[in-house]
Amino acid sequence: MSSPDPTMAQISRRMLSAKAEQFTESVIREMTRLALKHGAVNLSQGFPDFAAPEEIKEAARQAISDNINQYAITWGAKPLRDAIVEKFERTQGVKYDPEREVTICCGSTEAMMSAMMAIINPGDEVVVFEPFYENYGPDAILSGATPRFVKLRTPDWSFDERELTAAFGPHTKAIILNTPNNPTGKVFTRAELEFIRDLCVRWNAYCITDEIYEHILYDGAEHISMARIDGMRDRTIVINGLSKTYSVTGWRVGWVLAPPEPTQPIRKVHDFLTVGAAAPLQQAGASAMHFPQSYYDKLAASYSTKRERLLKILTSAGFTVFKPRGAYYIMTDIARFADPDPVRFPADSKDVRFAKFLVEKIGVAVVPGSSFYNDAKDGASQVRFTFCKKEETLAAAEERLSRLHA
Ligand code: GLN
Repeated sequence: MSSPDPTMAQISRRMLSAKAEQFTESVIREMTRLALKHGAVNLSQGFPDFAAPEEIKEAARQAISDNINQYAITWGAKPLRDAIVEKFERTQGVKYDPEREVTICCGSTEAMMSAMMAIINPGDEVVVFEPFYENYGPDAILSGATPRFVKLRTPDWSFDERELTAAFGPHTKAIILNTPNNPTGKVFTRAELEFIRDLCVRWNAYCITDEIYEHILYDGAEHISMARIDGMRDRTIVINGLSKTYSVTGWRVGWVLAPPEPTQPIRKVHDFLTVGAAAPLQQAGASAMHFPQSYYDKLAASYSTKRERLLKILTSAGFTVFKPRGAYYIMTDIARFADPDPVRFPADSKDVRFAKFLVEKIGVAVVPGSSFYNDAKDGASQVRFTFCKKEETLAAAEERLSRLHA
């Protein structure tokens, strides 16, 4: 119920943060709540519904039994920092100093926010490819950065070099990159990374690169970290975490690799935000990072099968699909479907009405495309599905989606 007294409304407005007012709750997380409420098959939020590897679970149990239950060092337990640095050198060929260049956070979400808060000043701009993982919007607002959006265009999600060039300028503090990309499945090529590098060098900007899907790749795609591109080691801030690689999204263990200068403020921000990530889970993460290559090969192969499966389901149901080269999402176009209820919900865009209809009437939860765009109308004909789910979950979605009529 709204307050009838206007002064009350004014006071309460003043009592709340104007920053927090500028963004909504996460639509991705909301879709999971709606899936639970309606008993829908949840293909919205990107978390596996299958078990994490037995070895990582056993390592966590062992760490608790071994009394690793008090605060770790605020910027991260030494065994995990060492393991991250060892693995990054093994896979990307770039060395980091675990004492001065690594910060462990509560998930890559906190890692990204700490990095942004540590480098942004009033007036700074950040370049963001669009569609973007929805967290980057609030990250920019809360850190005080002005986002400059640059479109990734269907069908291959390429960007226009002139548009990207025009987005950079004297106020650019950083570009946010996410490769392999959520929601598009794009994997940035070396040539694209080098083009971005040239702009970062020219405008003296950082590249903050979210590489959480680094091992989830298809069709021979290669993950190249921006830190590996000539001239970028010292202007790159790498964000990653245990969540997607080891199927432990609820553990909330992520990290930042960055040169010592940004790492110092990142560690301070992180310390006062959260003190530290769960100590026994950091210990378990350290042992997981020594899994053999076969673990990562199997992970990618298993997701490749699931990708094929969901592509087929969606195509038969009438969606136009954009085949991902990495990560575990499929962006689709819904132009072939009628708008479910434009009269009853005129304020929503078509993707939102379609997602509501899908979760309530068909029993499948997806993420409306507009939540990945600054301007809702740019995503009004798209919805995102995830396939990090068990075969039986995908089969249930198939059965339900067969009731849709394009
Ligand atoms: N990255 C996942 C997604 O995009 C989940 C993110 C989250 O909810 N923290 O769906």
